[in-house]
Amino acid sequence: ASGPLRLEDWIRDIPDFPQKGVLFRDITPLLQNPEAFRAAIDRLAAHYSGAGIQTVVGVESRGFIFAAPLAYLLGCGFVPVRKFGKLPAKTVSVEYALEYGTNIVEMHTDAIKPGERVLIVDDLLATGGTVSAAMELVEKLGGHIAGIAFLVELTYLKGRERLKGYDVFALIKY
Ligand code: 5GP
Repeated sequence: ASGPLRLEDWIRDIPDFPQKGVLFRDITPLLQNPEAFRAAIDRLAAHYSGAGIQTVVGVESRGFIFAAPLAYLLGCGFVPVRKFGKLPAKTVSVEYALEYGTNIVEMHTDAIKPGERVLIVDDLLATGGTVSAAMELVEKLGGHIAGIAFLVELTYLKGRERLKGYDVFALIKY
């Protein structure tokens, strides 16, 4: 069969990972397939071309895979949001709640200029906790969040409700 490539055909469901009761959406088959990976990046780029994005922020670590080629295609710089202790220069940090305990993410203080139009990218939107922390970092530095993009959105976890007022886009929705 031909027709437009269906990105969801390249996502693999793994039951009970990383723990019992969780259905993990594995994106590695999509990354491994040249046509699917290219289609994903091209469709994200098409969505944001002309949107005046100045910087693409990627969330460690699977967000990097999509954010970097997207930055390249949009003619923007790439900025990493990293886990605590990885960035060498002066940082801003945000602590956020996980199911058990907390996590800290950081960004270099000089990574974003006030008023800069920023696109935040991660592989998947679940509850929205991770991307909210990245958003807080961008806003602490005075950046304007012009968009938030994902390969996959798990709509049943209602992460989008936490991101009210922002422009949220996902290529695949479950
Ligand atoms: P949230 O903070 O929105 O609850 O979870 C999203 C974060 O956890 C993302 O950074 C994503 O990489 C990771 N994540 C959670 N569930 C999945 C999943 O089923 N598949 C993949 N690929 N990542 C997930």
